[in-house]
Amino acid sequence: MIKKPVIDKTFEMDLNHTYLQYRRMKIVATIGPATQSPRMLKKLISAGLNVARINFSHGEASEHVKVMADIRKAAQQLDKSVAILADLCGPKIRVGKFKNDFISLKENSVITITTDSLTGDDGLIPSQYKRLAKEVKTGETILLDDGNLELKVVKVVDDRNLKARVIRGGVLKNNKGMNLPFTNMKISALTDKDKRDVRFAIEGGADYIGLSFVRSPEDIRDLRKLLRKLGAENKHIIAKIEKPEALDNIGEIIKLSDGIMVARGDLGVELPAKKVPLIQNKLIQLSNHDNKPVIVATQMLESMISNSRPTRAEVTDVAGACQAGADAVMLSGETAVGKYPIEAVEMMDSILRETEAYQFFSQKGKFTKAAPDLNGELHEAIGTSIAQLSRDLMVRSVLVMSRSGYSARLISADRPAAPILALVQDEQVRRRLNLLWGVYPFPIKKGYDIKDVPAYGEKLIKKLKLGQKDDFLLLLAGLTEQVTPTNSILIHRIS
Ligand code: PEP
Repeated sequence: MIKKPVIDKTFEMDLNHTYLQYRRMKIVATIGPATQSPRMLKKLISAGLNVARINFSHGEASEHVKVMADIRKAAQQLDKSVAILADLCGPKIRVGKFKNDFISLKENSVITITTDSLTGDDGLIPSQYKRLAKEVKTGETILLDDGNLELKVVKVVDDRNLKARVIRGGVLKNNKGMNLPFTNMKISALTDKDKRDVRFAIEGGADYIGLSFVRSPEDIRDLRKLLRKLGAENKHIIAKIEKPEALDNIGEIIKLSDGIMVARGDLGVELPAKKVPLIQNKLIQLSNHDNKPVIVATQMLESMISNSRPTRAEVTDVAGACQAGADAVMLSGETAVGKYPIEAVEMMDSILRETEAYQFFSQKGKFTKAAPDLNGELHEAIGTSIAQLSRDLMVRSVLVMSRSGYSARLISADRPAAPILALVQDEQVRRRLNLLWGVYPFPIKKGYDIKDVPAYGEKLIKKLKLGQKDDFLLLLAGLTEQVTPTNSILIHRIS
């Protein structure tokens, strides 16, 4: 007889269990006109925002610096720590402006694309990318407006003009995006505008810099070099994966960056949309393996830009990213320009909590992580052991002394059963850790005595109501990036 499958009744889960007070996955939300006022920023942070994303593709850089200061102020007033991700525009190619703000492209008609500084009109599309006619070849595809419209190059006329046939027609408005999925472009991921914006991001105190349209490891090296030159090597780099070429070099790109973003918007234009789910899961797996944080981005709760409730498909998408093992999920238009930005963050928070509770109860504290990389590395072994101990002893929390954030990152990557409380001296490191799965950073005074850490940890746990007498804590000290003075795991029982 075939056994009837058992469906867990998730409504029987205790979402208020002490283990689940801290959501493990993190929420990145884009700040824009709908949320940049001090009042809305406070609401967003209270609703569960962990990382505020500033999108340098839109608006004035000086305005972004002000918004970043307002984010800091709002977090401080709420006594919360929030990271800021400054997302650079990168070499996003756009069409220019049209005489009547738009044109209609008729299927099968042949139009001209020019890089001359002209206003567009019927049959004429200006492109802002000056090298277009030099790099594009006959037969290649040009996608417009997020891939809604498609052209095929029929002739390169000279180094400023080309002719293209309309394959998929429709209305093309001013400044819409242009993607060249099969063209070997010579443009760097770090444009002159980006270089200027990096300075604004530093001035505003960003913790992470998002590099768009990364294609090669060289792109990461270029940004790292610039940050060093500007004395800002402590800014961490998030490589946005949205070009097919990046997938060819993904191993080294992940190694050289401090985390990646699965930028599904452009990825799904550059590649067939059907490829996005599998690539997303592969990128999560690879990042998990390299102990690097991974953000899943774009259209997660898209319909909440105008509706107060998401579609069930969107809810399933957020839960899917959680089950696949991502560190964070991101909101874009939902919080930047949407009608329901706070509700979108609250919705994301509740989906993640529900899914994590399910993982916690059904897998006995075993949260998703790609198979551990048991390669004989001491640090890796410590991370894996902490995760195992956390489950075997059902510890209330893992306390980690983290100078550079490195130890906290390694522990996070192994997905222990209990929240990771990172005790950090440096304010920037503290803010940065807000992106990492399961990590909640707290300040600790400089020059503390390692002997005092258990007592300090106990006090913190009691204050946070995470544990009581006889509960276990795991304490981890040492594990610095350079020398390793102490690599000690202390199993402590609350007295
Ligand atoms: C994306 O393309 O999914 C993305 C996150 O990039 P942007 O929003 O900067 O276009």
